[in-house]
Amino acid sequence: MKDCNCIFCKIANGEIPSATVYEDDEFRAILDLGPASKGHALILPKNHFKDICEADDATAGKLFPLAAKIGAAMKKGLGADGFNVVQNNGSSAGQTVFHLHVHVIPRYEGGPTIVSWDPGKAESDELTKTADLIKAAF
Ligand code: 5GP
Ligand code: ZN
Repeated sequence: MKDCNCIFCKIANGEIPSATVYEDDEFRAILDLGPASKGHALILPKNHFKDICEADDATAGKLFPLAAKIGAAMKKGLGADGFNVVQNNGSSAGQTVFHLHVHVIPRYEGGPTIVSWDPGKAESDELTKTADLIKAAF
């Protein structure tokens, strides 16, 4: 389940060197080349999945616990005050590399806003209708 044209496959499997912060049989976590903050890391499965929908449950189920461990190490090792866990699916969502990855972004008190949105407004009947559309699509 590797894609020979995929840069993250090559990095995850050690064919291209990277600043690695964690590695086991299934995952490698590396520092992002364009970091949003000091220590910004990416968790890469060694197998190729385009996005979270393509990943098997066993792989997907290990990503959150690993993100928590890496975030805790960022707090201890870098003095981060918190961290964001971000995962983009599809170009409309900001995905630019189509090999599943999870961003773990350390946050420092007083640092810039990194992950935010402008809250909209929604009436409760609109929320109900929207929820029904999603429920019907499972
Ligand atoms: P996406 O926008 O797909 O969620 O995130 C892709 C991330 O990968 C970006 O933050 C980008 O800076 C990072 N990136 C792209 N190419 C490379 C690379 O070759 N090496 C590393 N370490 N990071 C990369
Ligand atoms: Zn890949």
